[in-house]
Amino acid sequence: MIKANAYGHGVQRVVEALPDADGFAILEINAAIQLRNSGFTQPILLLEGVFSAAELTACAEFDLAIALHLPMHIEWLEQAQLSRPIAVFLKLNTGMNRLGFPAESAPAWAERLACCPNVASVTVMTHFACADEPSKGIDRQWQRFLAATQSLALPTSSANSAAIFAYPQTHGTWVRPGLALYGSSPFSDQSAASLGLQTVMSLCSEVIATQTVAAGESVGYGASFIAPAPMKIGIVACGYADGYPRHAPTGTPVWVAGQKTRLLGRVSMDMLCIDLTPWPELDVGSPVELWGEHLPIDEVASAAGTLSYELINVRDSCARASADATLNGEWHCV
Ligand SMILES: *Cc1c(COP(=O)(O)O)cnc(C)c1O
Repeated sequence: MIKANAYGHGVQRVVEALPDADGFAILEINAAIQLRNSGFTQPILLLEGVFSAAELTACAEFDLAIALHLPMHIEWLEQAQLSRPIAVFLKLNTGMNRLGFPAESAPAWAERLACCPNVASVTVMTHFACADEPSKGIDRQWQRFLAATQSLALPTSSANSAAIFAYPQTHGTWVRPGLALYGSSPFSDQSAASLGLQTVMSLCSEVIATQTVAAGESVGYGASFIAPAPMKIGIVACGYADGYPRHAPTGTPVWVAGQKTRLLGRVSMDMLCIDLTPWPELDVGSPVELWGEHLPIDEVASAAGTLSYELINVRDSCARASADATLNGEWHCV
């Protein structure tokens, strides 16, 4: 899954790092065409399908598979004059109630698609609402999917990251890893490392100034942190404009030169403050990792009351600054 600019990592960078991927799924047709033009020959799926009948022409030309989730999409396909037939994913609503045909209608739509000369193949797909929450699970959705599709003997696709780990019975023909592909755990109570996932993104910067404050002095906007004792403060060149969560509170973990310290006070637009009191030797130039190899992104997300989905969406300005970084490299914000 490389939607949302490959979850903030940059489509181009991710695609180059995964030349052996069995396929990619994305939303924007232009990005899909670009991917095809760059020489990627495996399947490419447009996750939300086409947004007009005219787009079907390009799908045929560039061999893009499409999700179908409205009767209109099927009518467009039936009426189109295409250079070759298209692979389609029949999206079934099994309880998420976002996109898709009612699961029970799958046999009827599949039969209709089988008669359409513009259709090269049909895969049935669905999406789970609660695969990451064991107390809710996927049972009802999965039973509904099976009941509607088992007799069809068509290729299937249903598992997102959480289901890939938690419900192997749902793997089917195509799994759809998103978050896990980028090294984050889809579960709030299991670390990425415990699932065997490796860190992909590191958000790095460095200390650009230090301050010594006396007890009772405050740090940063709003004077929200007040030093209880004399402290050494490090100023780091990274803020919410770089994609660091603005609401991360005092205490959010930060890695600095091999040590784990904590954020102090409010995050500014381009800077944040950290506690260097225990390490008088750390000074301007000390390397800082906001998340990454030394500091799991899920720990930072949890401290900031959010999910890594939000954090990895680092701002373009930030990603651009390191456009030549490798996938395992760093997003330098300095
Ligand atoms: C985004 C998405 C995924 C990937 O979900 P993760 O939880 O990030 O693994 C899978 N399927 C569909 C339809 C999606 O939109």
